[in-house]
Amino acid sequence: MALGVLALTGCGGSELRGDVLIRADRVFDGERTIEPGALLLRGGEIAAVGEELDAQAERTFDLGDATVLPGFIDLHTHVNDPVMLRGGVTTVRNLGWPLAALRPPGRYGGLRVLMAGPIVTVPDGYPIPAWAPEIALPVRGAADARRAVRILVGRGAAVVKIALEPRFGPMLDLAEIRAIVDEAHRHDRLVTAHVSGHGGTILAVEAGVDELAHMPCGSIGDAVLRSVVEAGIEVVATLDTIKGYGTICGDPVRDAARFVELGGTLLYGSDVPNVRVTGIDAEELRLLREAGLTPEAVLSAGTSRAGEQVGLDPLGTLTAGAPADVIAVRGDARALRDDLARPLLVVAGGRIVRAPRG
Ligand SMILES: [Zn+2]
Repeated sequence: MALGVLALTGCGGSELRGDVLIRADRVFDGERTIEPGALLLRGGEIAAVGEELDAQAERTFDLGDATVLPGFIDLHTHVNDPVMLRGGVTTVRNLGWPLAALRPPGRYGGLRVLMAGPIVTVPDGYPIPAWAPEIALPVRGAADARRAVRILVGRGAAVVKIALEPRFGPMLDLAEIRAIVDEAHRHDRLVTAHVSGHGGTILAVEAGVDELAHMPCGSIGDAVLRSVVEAGIEVVATLDTIKGYGTICGDPVRDAARFVELGGTLLYGSDVPNVRVTGIDAEELRLLREAGLTPEAVLSAGTSRAGEQVGLDPLGTLTAGAPADVIAVRGDARALRDDLARPLLVVAGGRIVRAPRG
């Protein structure tokens, strides 16, 4: 899916002049780990990757016991703060933000930002009574819903977010959701739905939404989970956030594990600042592992799979021609330790944001 040109604007970090060579004991390319591995960056892109590269470079990082990875893509945030870069996240998708502050996809302060803008809902629907009326866009009826999508797309929305949350008020009806999905698809945008329990999830499946912005939880049941799998709907897990919901959500990691068993796809999203991290949420990665993903599948969920989800692949991979959004962390990233949130090296779009001393 084409999402338009990503403007390379803004500042932050020092520009790479000439080629940069990175060597480490491991390079995770978005799918598999190359041991040892090397990466050559040139002009804001990855020029080459391999076990060994016979290359000359103006600058070389020999990192030893470390893993080089694609910069992480957080598919569910409510922040655009470039501070995320220093914690290893080079792309955020902001799924709830005031209309007046909605911006087209681009780099802002060096961070690649994709936005949904405000969440489409009904008058008095979630999130209006719950926590944030300023990030809601209420609609009445299918025609109004289509109009709202056109406004969002016109202001630069990269994705359309809707709320299907019966616990806090009325919800969009089936005709309204179908109108939103149809209008969004006309404009090459995915529709992602906030859901918590089975009521909103059933409606999302029936209306043909593309993605769920949280793992449905609270003894969700196999029939509903199976319907999500069969519809090909990806789920941005946000397990670290929703396990904090307490009794409402029950045991979301168990629900996620069942979803994975049934063949469902989990993607990485933190819902920051609802979890207090300013970069990669290593606990979320460990919960994805607990839900049954292999360590490399966990890393893919926040890199190559996330890049595909936002329609910007090869973003999220370390392959020739991909953007030079690269991080390196201490040790073996497959161990999913907190080192992931404290990278040694961060390069975003050809600028060094963080580098080892010396
Ligand atoms: Zn959220």
